[in-house]
Amino acid sequence: GKIIIAIDGYSSTGKSTIAKQLAKALNYIYVDTGAMYRAVTLFAMRHGFIGGEKDDLEKLVQSLPQVDLKFVYNKSLGFSEMYLNGENVENEIRALPVSRQVSKIATLEQVRIKLVQMQQKMGEDKGIVMDGRDIGTVVFPEAEFKIFMTASPETRAFRRYKELLDRGEKVSYEEVLKNVQTRDYVDSHREFSPLRKAPDAIEFDNSDMGLKEQLERIHNFALR
Ligand code: C5P
Repeated sequence: GKIIIAIDGYSSTGKSTIAKQLAKALNYIYVDTGAMYRAVTLFAMRHGFIGGEKDDLEKLVQSLPQVDLKFVYNKSLGFSEMYLNGENVENEIRALPVSRQVSKIATLEQVRIKLVQMQQKMGEDKGIVMDGRDIGTVVFPEAEFKIFMTASPETRAFRRYKELLDRGEKVSYEEVLKNVQTRDYVDSHREFSPLRKAPDAIEFDNSDMGLKEQLERIHNFALR
C-alpha cells in the first residue's frame, strides 16, 4: 500500500530535488513545506510585519486567518507551485530577501500550528513525499520511511548560489553561505520543533554524490 515518506535536513541539502524525483517514480504527491513557511514570510513582509524598522510578529499572528495557501499543480513544469491568496508567488518566495527572514517566522508557534495542521491533512491518504525540517519528528512521526539529509555548509551554499545565479539574482557566494549557516543555527535552536534527526530516520550525506547515485541509493532503501 501507499506510505508516507518524510525528508528532513538542513537548508539546501537537495531535499526537494530528491523528494520530487522520488514522488515522480512512485506516483506520489510531493509537498515542499519550506514553500509554506516562505509564503507566510512573504505575506508578513508585504504587510510590513517583518523586514522594516521594527517587527510586529504579534500582528502577523493575528493576521494568520487571512493567509490562504495553496499548491497548484503546473502540468508543464511537472510540479506544484505555491499560491498566496490566489497569486502565484513561486519565484518571489525563493529569492534571498525571503530566505533572510523565513527562519524567524518559522520560530512562531502559531505559524507552525497552522502549517502543521495543513500538512497533516495533505497526508491523510498517504502516497506522499514531504520535505522540511520537522516532518519525521512532528508532522508525521509515524511515517513509514524517513530520510535525514546532510551535506557540508560549503557544498550546500555553493549549490544554492548557482541556483540563485541561474535565476538571475545578484548575490555573492559569501552572503549565500552566511544565510545557509544562519538558517541552520536558528532552525536547530528554536523552541518549537527544532530541526533534528528522527531516531528512526536514515541519515544521508550527499556532499560528494551526484543526483543519479543519490536516487539509486534512496530507491534501494525505500523499496526494500
Ligand atoms: O526548505 P526551505 O529551505 O525552503 O525552508 C525555508 C525555511 O522554512 C527553513 O530555513 C526553516 O526555517 C523553515 N521550515 C521549517 N519547517 C519546515 C520547513 C521549513 O521551519 N518543515
